[in-house]
Amino acid sequence: MQITPIPCLTDNYAYIINDKNSGAVGVVDPSEAKPIISFLSKNKLKLNYILNTHHHFDHIGGNIELKKLYNAEVLGFINDKHRIPGIDILLKDNEKWVFGNSQVKILHIPGHTLGHICFFFEREKIAFTGDTLFSLGCGRIFEGDHNQMLKSINRIKKLPKDTMIYCGHEYTYKNAEFCMKYDGDNVNLKSKFERIKKLRSSNSPTVPSSLEDELKSNIFLRCDQNDLKIKLNMENEDDFKVFRKVRDLKDSF
Ligand code: ZN
Ligand code: FE
Repeated sequence: MQITPIPCLTDNYAYIINDKNSGAVGVVDPSEAKPIISFLSKNKLKLNYILNTHHHFDHIGGNIELKKLYNAEVLGFINDKHRIPGIDILLKDNEKWVFGNSQVKILHIPGHTLGHICFFFEREKIAFTGDTLFSLGCGRIFEGDHNQMLKSINRIKKLPKDTMIYCGHEYTYKNAEFCMKYDGDNVNLKSKFERIKKLRSSNSPTVPSSLEDELKSNIFLRCDQNDLKIKLNMENEDDFKVFRKVRDLKDSF
């Protein structure tokens, strides 16, 4: 399985997924059609599937043009069928969808939007987390509430540790600065920040990131950890209150 990040708009990533054995080709969250078309034609590929993590314009903007051009099928969460343009395949929570020779588990992870899903390629251990989990960050809560978002984050945390996380935006540098502000003596975070600085100085993507890395350095995944609670002066508070506090701090960062 070959995965290629395609930078779109200002800081979005669409991902081309290419299963060379079966010939299946998909794109995750095409904000715009043009950069996708130019990659596909350069590599002489035809598009079979358009996978949408959620309905926001910067994830579905290229749907209709790509669907028309390649006769591709559009996938999205069943409850969002009225707001995902061109949707053909309606996905449910915990459903398995087949891409080429791969089993893809659908995780409904509301919070950023109510219909947000994650595509988890089980054998390959690849997760497309859209705007729910970013490298060193988590998505803003637009339609859901903090409780839903924490539950969604906790579902992702339970995936295998060597899962590679492909998220919807290149927000990693700014996220790292936020994590450093409140968790600055975390050695895993510090070394990740150094790697991120190098990557960004050569304009390289910071994705994918392993779940293991995120568990150690992403402050939003560390709200159950005592050392972080102490740093936030919340050592006797439950995980939910810590998560809500961290999310609020990030909103005003
Ligand atoms: Zn979004
Ligand atoms: Fe987005």
